[in-house]
Amino acid sequence: MKIFKCPSCGKYTMREICNICNVPTAEAKPPKFSPEDKYGKYRRMAKFNEGADNNVENKVIIISK
Ligand SMILES: [Zn+2]
Repeated sequence: MKIFKCPSCGKYTMREICNICNVPTAEAKPPKFSPEDKYGKYRRMAKFNEGADNNVENKVIIISK
């Protein structure tokens, strides 16, 4: 179940369109769970590991910075 927030009136709703303002709502993400940050971290780790496997020199450069 997704919760959306209307950017116009600021109310939370389960609709993708605010039934009050009739504007598209944005998916509300509670600050306590930041799924985007968590997955972003894993993406960066995966990218780093991939680069390290393919290019040892690149790994050294990243660490020395
Ligand atoms: Zn609204």
